[in-house]
Amino acid sequence: MPCAICKTAKAKRLCPALREEICPGCCGTGRESSIDCPLTCEYLAEAHRHEKKPAQDPALMPGGDTHLDDDFLRANEFLIVLLGSAMCEGFRPHANALDTDAMQALESVAKSWQAQTSGIIYEPAVVNPIAVDMYTAVKARIEDITKRILEADPSKPLPEHVVPGVVTFLQRVGFGLNNGRPRCKAFLVFLSQFYVDMKQAEAEEASDDEPTVIL
Ligand SMILES: [Zn+2]
Repeated sequence: MPCAICKTAKAKRLCPALREEICPGCCGTGRESSIDCPLTCEYLAEAHRHEKKPAQDPALMPGGDTHLDDDFLRANEFLIVLLGSAMCEGFRPHANALDTDAMQALESVAKSWQAQTSGIIYEPAVVNPIAVDMYTAVKARIEDITKRILEADPSKPLPEHVVPGVVTFLQRVGFGLNNGRPRCKAFLVFLSQFYVDMKQAEAEEASDDEPTVIL
């Protein structure tokens, strides 16, 4: 059977976006460009693992000269996973969500945090509904976690630099995964792979014998 796109080469894979058999060449050319790939496509995930990323200007790296070392990342892994999972919940209703939406959302979260710590009320300028949904989900998750940590031990609130550090880390992951394609979803695929359902985790925790604080 010939490829549904070029009609010449031999069709070798089922494209979940087009629901048709296409050739690897057309998949490679159309992926995240003329084809709006779903996040679950195995060929997309495979491509992200092997593709060569275009060189990026290090001056554009999010977070400026913020230094995030391994100790910080290890200590705050739970927060990285939970904020990333909140992003997933934000973009899940939008099949057409892109990495650029996620990057917009994170930038707004970073700005709003900055404003909040300097006592200013911040209204994000994002009008993009997908970015707004991700922004709202992340903000709600930050509030929830901050509250839980404080309730668990009022003498140990979440240090102020942690949230912006984690947001910067996520922004840098997105920045690093950008493959330059117009509909790049490498960051969204990455976030989906680390998704943790907080409600489900809590339910499992409740049925567990060992008492631990779930954040
Ligand atoms: Zn083809």
